[in-house]
Amino acid sequence: MAAKNSILSEHYFHNEQAAYEFVEARLWPHGPACPKCGVIGNSVKLNGKSTRIGVYKCRENLAREARLMTDENYSYIMVGKEFAEHGIVRHMHKEYVSKDHPEVHTNTIEGFFSVFKRGMKGVYQHCAHNHLHRYLAEFDFRYNNRKALGVEDSERADKLLKGVVGKRLTYQTTAQ
Ligand SMILES: [Zn+2]
Repeated sequence: MAAKNSILSEHYFHNEQAAYEFVEARLWPHGPACPKCGVIGNSVKLNGKSTRIGVYKCRENLAREARLMTDENYSYIMVGKEFAEHGIVRHMHKEYVSKDHPEVHTNTIEGFFSVFKRGMKGVYQHCAHNHLHRYLAEFDFRYNNRKALGVEDSERADKLLKGVVGKRLTYQTTAQ
């Protein structure tokens, strides 16, 4: 009489990919759920050569009606297909504003990013990876409510205070 096979001989104990598939099927019977926004099934599995197994990217926060504007870096080609349009300037050819479409350039985002970088280095000095989006949201808020757009300090402070109504932020809640 043949001995009953041990569960340890199941293939998912001997293959990392199969192990992930086994755990994911139990964890997400209806498709991968985003731990941040909770949306199920709107993520892509990352399959890059240097990507570890089981990494997904949530696509819920993409504004698909937007026009993405980037330089010619190859890594933007695929993500560009997820937007209504993808405008490219070729910095390698010293093109900083598109000759055919003058509204296509990366000058605005580069300006924002330089303010962000100086703020992070000069004020906060350190930022954990899992809190990066919170720092970005703060700089977003200030950039969209800046003096050049007619928002003075007191008005910005009023807007800030409206944003905290009904919210209590503790360190524990930032981990969710
Ligand atoms: Zn999400």
